[in-house]
Amino acid sequence: MPRIDNDIKLDFKDVLLRPKRSTLKSRSEVDLLRSFTFRNSKQSYSGIPIVAANMDSVGTFEMAKALSKFSLFTAIHKHYTLEQWKEFACNNPDCLQNIAASAGTSPSDLEKLTSVLELLPDIRYICLDVANGYSEHFVEFVKDVRKKFPDHTIMAGNVVTGEMVEELILAGADIIKVGIGPGSVCTTRIKTGVGYPQLSAVIECADAAHGLKGHIMSDGGCTCPGDVAKAFGAGADFVMLGGMFSGHSQCGGDIIEKNGKKYKLFYGMSSETAMKKHSGGVADYRASEGKTVEVEFKGDVEGTIRDILGGVRSTCTYVGAAKLKELSRRTTFIRVTQQLNTTFN
Ligand code: 5GP
Repeated sequence: MPRIDNDIKLDFKDVLLRPKRSTLKSRSEVDLLRSFTFRNSKQSYSGIPIVAANMDSVGTFEMAKALSKFSLFTAIHKHYTLEQWKEFACNNPDCLQNIAASAGTSPSDLEKLTSVLELLPDIRYICLDVANGYSEHFVEFVKDVRKKFPDHTIMAGNVVTGEMVEELILAGADIIKVGIGPGSVCTTRIKTGVGYPQLSAVIECADAAHGLKGHIMSDGGCTCPGDVAKAFGAGADFVMLGGMFSGHSQCGGDIIEKNGKKYKLFYGMSSETAMKKHSGGVADYRASEGKTVEVEFKGDVEGTIRDILGGVRSTCTYVGAAKLKELSRRTTFIRVTQQLNTTFN
């Protein structure tokens, strides 16, 4: 007989943060920098732990340059050539501490990752990304990469439950990516019926990871700065964003003009668009397909960064957290039935 878990699991949209009495006078007093020492790599990190996703259109070198100025992080997509990596690294040495090189589990991906890391020893982060972080094959792959790169900080995922977070940390990963199905251009839930409400996944996975002195990255499902704040409030150490960083000058792809309006293409990494572009190279990237959408052109990403950082700082002042580090300790979520007043939507 199938089992039914009757515990209520929540998404970002199901909660709001309860304001708390605070001595903070203004949001300019809030410190968003966080410092971590990673469990397995033993390396340390300092920065604002918001991360551009390793998707073609978002995890670009141009995005890394813009985000790095604000101490944000970029998971660079896996489709750049060694030549492009070399050129970027030569011209932007300051960015290298805020980027990760990405790979799936195929032998060719591992070979490419190895070449990039051998060529550019200043890159200290690896992002291992697969359709299904639950496969035994992935756990073995993480162990192999850890053996090969004992001092690199490894992000790995995606999973949504505590026991798998623990297994991946014990296999050698430092930061576990959490999220199955919440992404803006992801169709996993429709195609497979598999998933987990993101806020609950983050709360449960953070608890499991922190128990082992590991870290987690909430990946997918943020639609606005408030959601980013909720992810941190739920216990995420890092928050990864795809859709919120899409449609900017720094994104891959050309501007499309239609009826006097400008757009940019944004697509899931296992969408038809991505598969055609990389001619079969990403067919196994995600278990199910992703969508392709035209996003209204948003200009320079700097405005969006300021909007997100301003929002999260403001959250911190509402709950009395002088530092981002204190946000989850100061968080009480209230279950709600409505987020917004929709009169003018
Ligand atoms: P967003 O911030 O847009 O809501 O979510 C971004 C995340 O969606 C990515 O970091 C990645 O984990 C996930 N994602 C990207 N492309 C695809 C895809 O084609 N299929 C699925 N299932 N997930 C995707």
